[in-house]
Amino acid sequence: MKFNEALIATLREEALKASKQAYAPYSKLHVGAALLANDGNIYRGANVENASYGLTLCAERAAVAAALQAISQNRENLVEAIYIVNTKLPAIPPCGACRQVLYEFGHGGIIFFDGQDGVKKSSIEKLLPEAFRLNV
Ligand SMILES: [Zn+2]
Repeated sequence: MKFNEALIATLREEALKASKQAYAPYSKLHVGAALLANDGNIYRGANVENASYGLTLCAERAAVAAALQAISQNRENLVEAIYIVNTKLPAIPPCGACRQVLYEFGHGGIIFFDGQDGVKKSSIEKLLPEAFRLNV
């Protein structure tokens, strides 16, 4: 899929909307993700923190969960792209846990995030080159 500037801008805008719904009373870091799924729709996710920090859910995984609620076929190739923004830091690629989850649902998916000098672009395979995979 081609990602022109208009589509990338739309994904960023949706990710910013998602960040407004974050629940982040502890870190104050409001993260939003906009996932372009293989059905052509955009699904949003925001981080959900917990007093027990380890239970915190990242925006990326929240977006994957939202997409899974709507899509019932070809789920292993769900993620065409995901844009991640936050309200504090200039650049924030997905954490390790989210990289593994994105790998599960989107081989070849493109990852966009805000960099210090504009949009940064990567891929799931580049960020997690030897992903864990069960051969079942
Ligand atoms: Zn994460």
